[in-house]
Amino acid sequence: MALLITKKCINCDMCEPECPNQAISMGVDIYEIAAERCTECIGHYETPTCQTVCPIDNTILKDPANQESNEQLWEKFVQLHHADKI
Ligand code: SF4
Ligand code: SF4
Repeated sequence: MALLITKKCINCDMCEPECPNQAISMGVDIYEIAAERCTECIGHYETPTCQTVCPIDNTILKDPANQESNEQLWEKFVQLHHADKI
């Protein structure tokens, strides 16, 4: 399941450089996560690193509109980082 940044975001810039998939970018008002690039950090970290670094609790949540299984997240990781080896 991709993650979602809620309106609690204070645009502190902490999460964007930490994302291993370049999934986070500044939106119109607050930072946004590109669902097609978010793997919940599978393949890189045990837990979503954006949630770890975010200083505001419950700002980055699972996006119910983008539900994916672990297998689908792994497939996304492979497509993003190892597509040339498939
Ligand atoms: S969970 Fe990981 S891959 Fe997804 S936006 Fe956060 S840092 Fe990026
Ligand atoms: S770390 Fe949290 S508060 Fe800071 S920009 Fe990212 S989502 Fe917003």
